[in-house]
Amino acid sequence: MDKQTNQFLLGMLALLTAATAQAQLPSNATRYTQPGVDVQNYAFSLTLSDSTNQIQGETTIRFTRADDRQTVWFDLISPRDSSQTGMRVRSVSLTDGKTAPFSQRNDRVFINLSAAPNQPTEVVIRYSGTPAKGLIISKNKFGERTFFGDNWPNNARNYLPVVDHPSDKATCSFTVNAPAIYRVIANGKFVSESNLPNGKKQTRWQENTPIPTKVMVIGAAKFAVEEVGSVGGVPVQSWLYPNDSQKGFIDYRPAKEILQYFIDNIGPYSYEKLANVESTTIFGGMENASCIFYNEKVIVGKKDSDVEALLAHEIAHQWFGNSATEADWSQLWLSEGFATYFSALYLEHAYGKDTLNAVLNQNKNQIFRYTSLKPKGTIVDSTTTNLMDLLNPNSYQKGGWVLHMLRHELGDDIFWKGIRAYYEKFRNANAQTSDLQAVMESVSGKKLGQFFQQWLHQPGYPDIVWGSRYDAAKKALVIDVRQAQRTGSFFVIPLTFSIHGSNGREVSRTARLTMTEQTQTFTVPLATKPASVMIDPDNTVLMRSSQMAN
Ligand SMILES: [Zn+2]
Repeated sequence: MDKQTNQFLLGMLALLTAATAQAQLPSNATRYTQPGVDVQNYAFSLTLSDSTNQIQGETTIRFTRADDRQTVWFDLISPRDSSQTGMRVRSVSLTDGKTAPFSQRNDRVFINLSAAPNQPTEVVIRYSGTPAKGLIISKNKFGERTFFGDNWPNNARNYLPVVDHPSDKATCSFTVNAPAIYRVIANGKFVSESNLPNGKKQTRWQENTPIPTKVMVIGAAKFAVEEVGSVGGVPVQSWLYPNDSQKGFIDYRPAKEILQYFIDNIGPYSYEKLANVESTTIFGGMENASCIFYNEKVIVGKKDSDVEALLAHEIAHQWFGNSATEADWSQLWLSEGFATYFSALYLEHAYGKDTLNAVLNQNKNQIFRYTSLKPKGTIVDSTTTNLMDLLNPNSYQKGGWVLHMLRHELGDDIFWKGIRAYYEKFRNANAQTSDLQAVMESVSGKKLGQFFQQWLHQPGYPDIVWGSRYDAAKKALVIDVRQAQRTGSFFVIPLTFSIHGSNGREVSRTARLTMTEQTQTFTVPLATKPASVMIDPDNTVLMRSSQMAN
C-alpha cells in the first residue's frame, strides 16, 4: 500500500496513521501458527444489503493437511456483544452435506474433521454478522453507500474465514449478492452478472492465481467504468464514482504505460485484469490483486507525477507483495521497499534521472528523520508485533534505497537480470530476504553477505565526515573519511569523489573507493590542486555526509 511522497498524500497518510495507530493486533498476528494446513481455494459468497450493515456469508474452503490432525481452524472474528460486530457461524458442513462439529473462540472457528489426511478436504462455513472493519460499509465522499474490502494487514478475518497470513496463498472466487444499483468488483476474471429477485443482482469474479488474503477483496458501489485498453492481453480498466469519472479517468489512464513498463522489465503480469478503483480505503492506495483500490481523496483530473507515482507503486505491488510475496510480516520490505523503488524506477523511465534523484533525496530525508526517532530499528524486523508499526520508512524508503544501492553494487544489467530471476523463481509463491540474496549472488557471482547483513539487519546508516587536502609535493589529493554514526556498527561502502577544476568542470572522478573501516585515508594522484571536491556525485549510497573544515 502506499505512503507516498507528495505533501498532499503525506498529510493524508499522517491522518490515516493517527486513526489506525490504536489498532493493536493479537500477539499471534505475526506468526503463522498452523503449519501443515495449506489452503488451496476459497469460494466466498457474500450477501450485502442497503437496509442493514449485517452481511451473510458462505465460504467453501479447500485445503490439505500434512498430518492426521482432527481439528483445523480458520481466522474469523467472533461476535462482540459490546459492539454488536463480529461473525457468528451458523453451520459447518463437508461437501457430502454432513455437518461438522465446530466452535468459535479466540477469533477463530475450530472444525472437527473425520476425513483422512493427505487428501484435499472441503468445508462449507455459513455465517453472518456486522464487520467492525476489513469490509468498510459506509458513505463515500458523495454521501452514497459503498462497500469496500480493506484487508491489510490481517483484517480479512473480520468478514471472511481464512488462514489470514501472507504465507498461505490460495486461489479464490467471489459471488456477491447486492442491491442491483451497485456494480461489484473483485479479484481476477469477471465470470457473470445476473438478476436476482427483490431488486438484487449476483456478480461473480474468479481469481485463478494464488494470492495472499491481504489482497483478496470486493468493492460494491455505483461506478462508471472505462476500458483503458489492453497490455499484452491484460485488460486495463478504471472504476470511478460517476461524479468523479471525468477527472478520475484522466488520473488512472497512465496505468497502461506503467503496466507495460513493468511487464517489459520484470516479467509477465500474473492476473487476469488490472482494474484501478476509486474507494474508501483508509490508505492512499491499496494494492489488492488485479483490482487496486485508491483513496477517493486522490482525484486530480490532470497529468500529475505524484498520482503516477502512486499508480506505479500499487501496480509494482502486483509483482512484489502480491505475486512474489513476503513469507512473513518481518519481511515486509520485500513488498513495500520494492514498490517504493519500482515506482521511482518508473519515474526515472518516464521523466529522467533528475526525477529519480529527487525521489531518492526525499526518501533519504525521511529515513534520517525516522532513524533519529527509532535509532535501533532495522528493515528486517521480527520484534514489532503491531503490524501497523511496520508501515515505516525502514520498510518503505530504506528498503527502496537498499535496492538502489544493490543496483549500483551490481550494475544495471546484472541488477535487472537478478530482479527478473527473483520474480521468476518466486512468482505466485513466498520469499524471504535470504532468497533474494541467493538469487542476486547466483546471478552476479558476487558474495553479498556483508551487503545484506549491514543494510537489512543492522540499524542506521553511515554518517560520513570527510575532508580533502592537496599534497603538492606528492601531486596527490588526500581524502580523510570517518564514519561518525553512534550506533556502534560500521558499514562497508563504496565511495566516489568528483573532482572539479577552477572552471567548475569535473577534472577527475575517483573509481569506487571501498571504505572498510571507521576511519580511512585515500590518496588520489592529481596533477594540480582542485577547486572543489564532491562526495557521491551519483547519489548511490544511503549516507549523511558533511565536510570537515579545512
Ligand atoms: Zn505499498
